[in-house]
Amino acid sequence: MGKKVIDQAVSIFFSLTDGLSKERQSSKRYLADIKSIFRDQKEAERMVTNHNPLVYEFYELGMPADAGDLAFGTSITYPGSVGGEYFMTKGHFHNILETAEVYYCLQGHGYMLMENPEGEWDYKEVTPGNAVYVPKRFAHRSINIGNDPFITFFCFRGDAGHDYKTIESTGFRKVIVEKDGKPNIINNPRWE
Ligand code: ZN
Repeated sequence: MGKKVIDQAVSIFFSLTDGLSKERQSSKRYLADIKSIFRDQKEAERMVTNHNPLVYEFYELGMPADAGDLAFGTSITYPGSVGGEYFMTKGHFHNILETAEVYYCLQGHGYMLMENPEGEWDYKEVTPGNAVYVPKRFAHRSINIGNDPFITFFCFRGDAGHDYKTIESTGFRKVIVEKDGKPNIINNPRWE
């Protein structure tokens, strides 16, 4: 079942963009690429050496980066964890900070973790059929808290751009870790 939804998530572009003839781009992030985002660096290193799992991937079209265009695609975050911290995306602000984004869940069970430069933060639990509105000014990260691939469709203003650097230095204020089989939201020690 999971495989079918992934196939759909990938092929959705061909039906949606028929006639636009833009190239589909895929990006894969293995643990080695993003290991610094996890708390437990020792465990991350061990896993990279051991089997270096694929943590997430996303597909998008190279649409024109104009204000009137829409950037859209699908994001697949795989199940897993590093020392109890669930697999997640790097997360980003938009270069144009005043840009919102919509995520619609196609499969799986996840959290959307959000925070703005002023220190406000929030999260939304996402299941298939739910949409999340990420307000402008909020950095956002997908987190897979389930056992299947967590797949979302996203859409935002074409010229918004991605700012990964700001969030990279200290991470989000909150981290989501598994405790007794349930997601637990705790403070990020790097912010304390
Ligand atoms: Zn975004």
